[in-house]
Amino acid sequence: MNDFSIGVDLGGTNLRIAAVDVGGQLVEKVTLGTKVSLGRDHVLNDMCEAIKHLSAKYKNSAKMLGIGIGVPGIIDMETGLLRESPNLPGWADYPVRAEIERRLTTVVILENDANVAAFGEKWLGAAKDHDDMAMLTLGTGVGGGLVMGGKIWHGMNGMAGEFGHTTVEPEGHPCGCGNRGCLEQYASATAVVRMAREAIAQNASSRLAQAAHEDAEFSAKSIYNLAIQGDEDAKRIFRRVGRCIGIVLSAMVNSLNLPIYVIGGGVASAWEAFAPSIFEELRQRCMVYAATAPPDPLAQGGGASSHVEPGPGRKTIITRALLGSDAGLFGAARLPMIAEAAR
Ligand SMILES: [Zn+2]
Repeated sequence: MNDFSIGVDLGGTNLRIAAVDVGGQLVEKVTLGTKVSLGRDHVLNDMCEAIKHLSAKYKNSAKMLGIGIGVPGIIDMETGLLRESPNLPGWADYPVRAEIERRLTTVVILENDANVAAFGEKWLGAAKDHDDMAMLTLGTGVGGGLVMGGKIWHGMNGMAGEFGHTTVEPEGHPCGCGNRGCLEQYASATAVVRMAREAIAQNASSRLAQAAHEDAEFSAKSIYNLAIQGDEDAKRIFRRVGRCIGIVLSAMVNSLNLPIYVIGGGVASAWEAFAPSIFEELRQRCMVYAATAPPDPLAQGGGASSHVEPGPGRKTIITRALLGSDAGLFGAARLPMIAEAAR
């Protein structure tokens, strides 16, 4: 067996722990529910038990390189303090890294969940042929991650990459961050459902209204299903998702000129419904994109290889993620491997 590390993806709903080897093979994955209501001690105990279990199971057959953990929220990289986390109520200013290290009696690497998802896609996914990339993760919220020269770009305090809180509607829907009209309010799963409910309030006899009435778990996926069946109200919602992502990507492409931007998270499954609007916005708004657009940008989104020869004619690729919900797990497991290589 190859050397391996343990990756953890601590989400507001699921807690996933995996042993991943240096070749990117998933050795074993454990999925637990995140019992947020039982408190942070309970969640951390569950996590540490699973880490110990996996580590003990494989460490006699290969070298265990370390533990990487993706956590939702803003992390102070120096202190390992979780400064703020909308998905983990009651964890604000909690010394997450120190608490985990105390339980495991070993060092761990803590990282923002959107950053590890980007790092996973850079290692094994859509951006594996690129050293520089950015990713938007469209989930309950909208996360962002930036990888430069093969390393996560942290900024001064580890807070860089919050693209989800870029303004797309100056007087728009209030956001949990304190701003109004953030991308998160128009492109997250939560936002898709809210926009559907707003449309229902306008037209109570629509198919959306009917679906909301019949479907107890009326979700972004239900609305996507209506969109692919041709429902105009549902299609309009996803066009708005795409337009808002396009506005933010325009600023990113103009300011960063990266070779590849990856769109992941649960809402990215609706790629067909929103991607055309992204490219429409980019063509209209983004000078750097206009100069570097591939002839058929949507063809890049079907999971086709993102490999591009280096050189002056390089094109800007905007594509969907390839690793699905495992991106964060792979990215977290990659962190100690990189740290090991740097030693
Ligand atoms: Zn915001």
